[in-house]
Amino acid sequence: MARINEHYRTLSAGYLFPEIARRSRTFLEEHPGRSLMKLGIGNTTEPLTPSVIAGLHRGVGKLASRDSYSGYGDEQGNSDLRETLAAYYAGRGVKLKANEFFISDGAKPDSGNIQSIFGLDNIVAVQDPAYPVYVDSNVISGRAGSFNREEGRYGKLHYMPCNEENGFFPEVPKVKVDLIYLCSPNNPTGAVATADQLKGFVDYARSNKAVIIYDASYAEYISDPSLPRTIFEIEGAETCAIEINSLSKFSGFTGVRLGWSIVPEALLAEDSEPGELNALWNRRQCTFFNGASNVVQEGALAVFSPEGIAESRQLVAYYMENARIIREGLVSLGLKVFGGDNAPYLWLRTPGKMSSWDFFDKLLEETSVIGTPGSGFGPAGEGYFRLSSFGHREDIIRAVESIKANLKLQEKA
Ligand code: PLP
Repeated sequence: MARINEHYRTLSAGYLFPEIARRSRTFLEEHPGRSLMKLGIGNTTEPLTPSVIAGLHRGVGKLASRDSYSGYGDEQGNSDLRETLAAYYAGRGVKLKANEFFISDGAKPDSGNIQSIFGLDNIVAVQDPAYPVYVDSNVISGRAGSFNREEGRYGKLHYMPCNEENGFFPEVPKVKVDLIYLCSPNNPTGAVATADQLKGFVDYARSNKAVIIYDASYAEYISDPSLPRTIFEIEGAETCAIEINSLSKFSGFTGVRLGWSIVPEALLAEDSEPGELNALWNRRQCTFFNGASNVVQEGALAVFSPEGIAESRQLVAYYMENARIIREGLVSLGLKVFGGDNAPYLWLRTPGKMSSWDFFDKLLEETSVIGTPGSGFGPAGEGYFRLSSFGHREDIIRAVESIKANLKLQEKA
């Protein structure tokens, strides 16, 4: 008799985006002739750059003849690409070996899968609010306990609140935890950890034999040179951290799919030898994954050519100019806005202490703009709202103009 994985039943309903879609549909039915302006979703909109297109064509071209055709590649990824990534990190003063990089089909799959190399009795700490996969993957594997609807929390997870008082980056836990998920620059808050803040976590992890899972998917959005772009800029991080990254937001690979995880040989868990976690992740990938697409890996190699890097940086600059436009518009209304300086997300405090969903309705009703209620990312997101700078410039300008012209604010935020 087959039985399901009952932990799936424990997942809190995938409520956020379906609910946004439902409210948007209802609004359009009730307001025929109005169109929506979407600042809600973290999906890229601008085309791939010329170098990447050429790289992808090269990849396809190689498949067209017997001499250059390749079938399955290495599960860990093309060795040229792993070497290229190691060299890119070396350019930032971080020494990692190519065999510590594992190429994948994206940061979300890696963020979800990485927990499988850790025991089920690990205590997991997550930022609150957080990108949902860190919580959900641990719910599915059975580490989270039951969901308390009133509190909006799982009983066995350790939540690290991110709020205005701590600049949306959490304090080091005061209790003992084993696996710590951190995301910087952060989705949804747009906050970026300083080197001192990351050092606090690295020190904590080393003294508690904990492991940090560090999602750096938005690292390329950091322009402030004092902010770390990889956790491995922090001394000792190679003994206590795994980093996950991707080309989705740097180079518009959201639909193309390419990411990587760095599992250093020096990484240690309480009961592991040096090299063992690297070997476990290797084993996991060889067992469940058959390698990233060879065509896409050619595209990724093109990203890291000098022209490719320059083009991707231009793409980032385009979205960051959008962020500036959104921020300026919101600030001119007296709204309290966070993020958007070194991250593509803006996190605003709802005016007049409105709930996140009430503000969603108000913004939609008055301005036809769609955003994302902060409460959808965790209980500490209540009273906040996320706007995304991924969009065509003209749409961003239209949305900001509509907010400035039509949003009715009784009191200053
Ligand atoms: N990590 C964070 C924090 C994200 O916000 C996203 C996408 O929005 C991802 C990972 C997904 O990355 P990928 O497209 O590489 O799977």
